[in-house]
Amino acid sequence: MAKKLLILHTGGTISMSEGEDGKVSPSDKNPLVAALDKLNHPAKLYQESLLNVPSPHITLDHWQILKERIEHAVQAEQFDGIVITHGTDTLEETAYFLDLALNTKVPVAITGAMRSSNELGADGLINLQSAILVALSDESQNKGVLVVMNDEIHHAKFVTKTHTTNVATFQTPTFGPCGLVTKNQVIYFQHLSQYEHFPIERLTKRNVQLVKAYVEMDSFLLEQLAQHQCDGVVIEALGAGNLPPSCLSGVQKLLDAKIPVVLVSRAFNGITQDVYDYLGGGKQLKQQGIIFTKGLSGQKARIKLLVLLNQSLAQPLANYF
Ligand code: ASP
Repeated sequence: MAKKLLILHTGGTISMSEGEDGKVSPSDKNPLVAALDKLNHPAKLYQESLLNVPSPHITLDHWQILKERIEHAVQAEQFDGIVITHGTDTLEETAYFLDLALNTKVPVAITGAMRSSNELGADGLINLQSAILVALSDESQNKGVLVVMNDEIHHAKFVTKTHTTNVATFQTPTFGPCGLVTKNQVIYFQHLSQYEHFPIERLTKRNVQLVKAYVEMDSFLLEQLAQHQCDGVVIEALGAGNLPPSCLSGVQKLLDAKIPVVLVSRAFNGITQDVYDYLGGGKQLKQQGIIFTKGLSGQKARIKLLVLLNQSLAQPLANYF
């Protein structure tokens, strides 16, 4: 019997068209809806236009809608897999939120496009077909949410958009893609050592801010955040996880206010480590109580912190990073 897949459209360039003035915009009619017949796959497809927003408009409420729709589709409607179409600007964030928070084992593949439906070399339909093949594959089960773009499969945890316009924009720094989609095959060649799930019921908003470090960064923003009692701060630190001395009083104010501070690196590859023993060096930051991460980007660490702050945790927060 053919597998039953649900395609959930949320908007983005994959659902847009180019006008005569060369500008790309959404329309009431999603061009993908009528184009599904052109695809080549053995699935029984159902589709819904759940949202129709450019992905910079995505909110936590949208994530909740997606999560509930997917869980209902799997638990009550027996879908064998889910495909999501999404704008690429924030695709990696939606993918990682669902990766952490979804309570399902069926394949969930998310895709988008860099060129809208009527542009030369439009990549939407081929990406959608690849995502369907990934969602159909038994091997895609228990792998969390998979980002499928440009014939590659990436784990949601580490994938990121690396180019503003190129169709090969999605990459997984440090590790590379976990699989490939050929004309009719899905091939995996890497697995994560750990698939993490925090199946929360509801994501309530928390004031978790993301700040980037730079030469002679001062404490201005960090002090404001401490004063306003935000719920958490992620800092994109320098190199392996170091900060300029000029921002350390702000860091201390956050820690004194018992605000969790999570450190990622602004470097594109590698992980943060408490290597350096100088003022602002990783060793001292870790001793102060800053939480170090292993390869997460700033935007992903922020989502993880949001999700963890929505849980009752058995262990100290740092143990989950
Ligand atoms: N700005 C668009 C969006 O994220 C880009 C895209 O979909 O490729 O909605």
